[in-house]
Amino acid sequence: MDLTYTAVEDAFRLEARVWLEANVPRERWPSGDTAEGFALHRTWEKRLFEARWSAVSWPKKYGGREASLIEWLVFEEEYYRAGAPQRIAQNGIFLLAPTLFDFGTEEQKDRILPRMAAADDVWAQGWSEPNAGSDLAGIQSRALRDDVRGGWRLSGQKAWCTRGAFCEWMFGLFRSDATAERHRGLTYFLVPLHGRGVTVRPVGRLDGDAGFADVFLDDVFVPDRDVLGKAHEGWSVAMTTASSERGLTLRSPGRFVASAQRLVELHNRVASVGDVDPAARDAVVRAWMDAEAYRLYTLQTVAKIASGGAIGPEASVNKVFWSEMDVRLHEAAMRLLGDRAELTEGAHEAVDGGAWAKAFQFSLAGPIYAGTNEIQRNVIAERVLGLPR
Ligand SMILES: Cc1cc2nc3c(=O)[nH]c(=O)nc-3n(C[C@H](O)[C@H](O)[C@H](O)COP(=O)(O)OP(=O)(O)OC[C@H]3O[C@@H](n4cnc5c(N)ncnc54)[C@H](O)[C@@H]3O)c2cc1C
Repeated sequence: MDLTYTAVEDAFRLEARVWLEANVPRERWPSGDTAEGFALHRTWEKRLFEARWSAVSWPKKYGGREASLIEWLVFEEEYYRAGAPQRIAQNGIFLLAPTLFDFGTEEQKDRILPRMAAADDVWAQGWSEPNAGSDLAGIQSRALRDDVRGGWRLSGQKAWCTRGAFCEWMFGLFRSDATAERHRGLTYFLVPLHGRGVTVRPVGRLDGDAGFADVFLDDVFVPDRDVLGKAHEGWSVAMTTASSERGLTLRSPGRFVASAQRLVELHNRVASVGDVDPAARDAVVRAWMDAEAYRLYTLQTVAKIASGGAIGPEASVNKVFWSEMDVRLHEAAMRLLGDRAELTEGAHEAVDGGAWAKAFQFSLAGPIYAGTNEIQRNVIAERVLGLPR
């Protein structure tokens, strides 16, 4: 394939770079997974929206720029290169929105997408339950039909909802037909988190941020207009969301290319004042090469989509690769930092404000969220390689 960018793509990159250089906040913000940080990051999302950078690939009428997938990748490269803030709106913009484009009605898209792009409504994901994580089809939260009011009554518990304590809405699956087979009889709902009967309880993470929530639903009424796709056919709708998450939109290469570049800079700073363990230097080289390999692999995926193909079960290969690369990259940083690696945010001599320790801790979650890597390996074995169950 031809890896040179067109003049239009180069101009797009330049426009993004200039805007980001002028607008990215210089100071380090508190994590978007805290109440204070979330509020600050929402102001950033609004600034992105006003300049039409919040959802570049969307149609213009919803606040996007109708950017191609390549342009989207370019924007992401520039975004992470500039060290711009964490995207607290990502679950809506990168996961729910592609599903809405495939399954939503015009009314749903018109109502939901502009408010999502402007971060007026920030969305949480509600898949996992206490007894349904890897085994998602084991969902027990239920939806009972309410013909009188024209909708459904939801009850049950959703767990590990990222930033759920601060979001306005949640999307998720509920069991709408208790008699159907496990993967059937599920419906995809859009649920207001401030509605009657909803209790949102923040759950602290290992790093102290209240980044998760348990969401309890007690006979919560949801009208038919907030069902995405057909009733009882939510599994295939949800798989569209999961495939976006694993395959392309959740972790673009720009994020890892920028981290690998910062790792190289960290190496050079450490090497300028002392010896670097050769094994640590090898780890830095590998991290840089892995990020570059991921960038090229993603271009291959995008080329495939552009020529009419789709992302299939090989999305699982992608997810295993980026999550394990991210752990190795941050382990390399920990090795370089030596006895200062453990200094977290706020510690007196923490390098780069403790950002490396924070990112290392978060990288450890990568092999778990978006479907654990053990599950991805099962998918690769059975559905990509055709091995027996
Ligand atoms: C940072 C983070 C953010 C998250 N955000 C969200 C969110 O926003 N919304 C949401 O709904 N969920 C979220 N989750 C939850 C996540 O989706 C689940 O943790 C994940 O699906 C695993 O489910 P579980 O925790 O119930 O573990 P389990 O499914 O109980 O798995 C436990 C262990 O057993 C292994 N295992 C299970 N079944 C098999 C099998 N068949 N073969 C081999 N190994 C197996 C797993 O790989 C794992 O190691 C998040 C998790 C993290 C860490």
